Amino acid sequence: MELKNSRGLFFAQTREPQISYWANPKMLKLVEGSRRTIPSEFLNWNPCAPDSRSNCPQLHSTMEMLVNLSNPKWRDRASNIYAGRIYSNEDVAEAQTNLRGGMIAISNEYSSAITAYAAMYGRFVSAIDFAAGITQEQSRLLWTGLHDHFNKSIEDFKRGGIISLKGNDLMVFPDDEARSSFESAIFMAEFWTVAHEFSHHIVRDVSTRRDREVVTILRDLTKASSVGAEIRAMSSDQRDEINADLLATLLVSGYFNDTRDPIGVPGSISGAALSLITIAHFRDEWTCDPEDSHPGCLDRIRILLTLICEYYGSESAYPGDSERSHIVVRRVAGLLITFALWVHGSIGMDSKSINNSIATLSVIFEFMENED
Ligand SMILES: [Zn+2]
Repeated sequence: MELKNSRGLFFAQTREPQISYWANPKMLKLVEGSRRTIPSEFLNWNPCAPDSRSNCPQLHSTMEMLVNLSNPKWRDRASNIYAGRIYSNEDVAEAQTNLRGGMIAISNEYSSAITAYAAMYGRFVSAIDFAAGITQEQSRLLWTGLHDHFNKSIEDFKRGGIISLKGNDLMVFPDDEARSSFESAIFMAEFWTVAHEFSHHIVRDVSTRRDREVVTILRDLTKASSVGAEIRAMSSDQRDEINADLLATLLVSGYFNDTRDPIGVPGSISGAALSLITIAHFRDEWTCDPEDSHPGCLDRIRILLTLICEYYGSESAYPGDSERSHIVVRRVAGLLITFALWVHGSIGMDSKSINNSIATLSVIFEFMENED
């Protein structure tokens, strides 16, 4: 595999112009009416420079991070993958390969959809705090109102794109902290999505020759897991997706690096859950049939969070923060899965506290019971 060929594959498959994504006439038109300007280093980015891994400088750094986070044995292959942004009204994130190259494509529609779900997650978390201090009836109204507003906003978004969320109070942030956690949620979700596609290249699901070593690592990791039998019973297509989810999450959390950052795990699972919730709700892929290529997103979220909690569940999610250091990874995972089920509409937040909601999730709950 060579980077030059991977780049060629990206431009041949996507038919994007061979200029910076940010200098694309469609992008310039989009920005024209707004007060925003595109920084010159984005406009002048060269997607075809010899060492360029993307048509966007930000995605280029994401790819460099993923190469550094890879097991040293994979770095040769990893550093020859090209990842680019595409203009498309379809919410795609995909990996393609041929004999001599591998590419990843992520669409503006997909990245914008992530934005809406990240904003909603911020709302969800602050509503949990707020609901603790109001009556049951007020809380019922709060949660149903929020759910309806969110579903309506997504319908608007599907018809009118990100522009339709202008002026929507989902995009209004009470303070800088709320805005910065919204921005980092978007970053982590996109990072995880690219890592998922990158993982397909590392395991070589997209070609016929598989990397035995990576497959063995993943098999060992899931062997003793409480969800191991469930993963082994899946079709090989579906198992490839579960493996890419797991490998992406481990990569992003720094698992293959000597100096693992302790905040890597909560960031990584938040990115994973937000990406999968976006796919599930936006495309209505919550559940699946056994013959589908991808498992349903509710299963993907549950299986991934269970595996991660088996390894890191009792680690602090905020090790450097004296006020929040008692909050463990398992708790963050519980919150994420509760958000997924609430967006899905399978649980109400009205009469029970978040603890009760988490308790309905037998698998996660088992860990809480065993370890607490
Ligand atoms: Zn995949």
